[in-house]
Amino acid sequence: MEGSSGFVTTQIDYIFNWARKSAIWPMTFGLACCAIEMMATGASRFDMDRFGAGVFRPSPRQCDLIIVAGTVTLKMAKIVRRVYDQMPEPKWVISMGSCSNVGGPFNSYSTLQGVDRVIPVDVYIPGCPPRPEALLYGLMRLQDKIMTEHPSKYFLGKGDLLPPVTEQEDSSIPD
Ligand code: SF4
Repeated sequence: MEGSSGFVTTQIDYIFNWARKSAIWPMTFGLACCAIEMMATGASRFDMDRFGAGVFRPSPRQCDLIIVAGTVTLKMAKIVRRVYDQMPEPKWVISMGSCSNVGGPFNSYSTLQGVDRVIPVDVYIPGCPPRPEALLYGLMRLQDKIMTEHPSKYFLGKGDLLPPVTEQEDSSIPD
C-alpha cells in the first residue's frame, strides 16, 4: 500500500511539474541594460514561446517567474521584494546578469550586492550582459528544477513548498 501511494504521488508530481514548467508566465520587469537582452529574448528571433514562457504579464498577480534583469539599487530592493510577495505560489526567480547576481561593477553605497539578499533565487545567469541564448539556457535549467519539485506534498498537507520568511530574513531587507 505504501508503494502504491508513492507511485500515485510521483505521477501527480510529474503531471503538475510538467504543466507548470510548460506554462511559465514571466513578469514584465526590467531594471537596467540586462533588460534589453531580456526583451530581445522575447522577440521572434529567439522565440521564448517554444518553452511556453513567452507570455509576459504586466501584473505580479498573474506571474510565476520574475527575471531580475539589471542593477538592483538599495532604493529598488524593497520594491523588488514587494513585487515578489505579490506573486502567487508557486513562483520562481531568475537572476540575470552580474549586477543582479552580485552587484556587478557597482560596489557602491547605493547598489545591492546581489538580489538574493532580498528574495530567494532559483537560477543565476552570469554575464554583463548575458546574451538571449544564456537566458534561454537559464530558463531550461529552471524547467529542470521545477521537474524535481514535489507539489503533492503541498496538496496532501505534508509540507509547504517554501519555508516561511523568518523575522531575521525580513529585517535584513534594506530600507
Ligand atoms: S550586468 Fe552589465 S549589462 Fe547587466 S545591468 Fe549590470 S552593467 Fe548592465
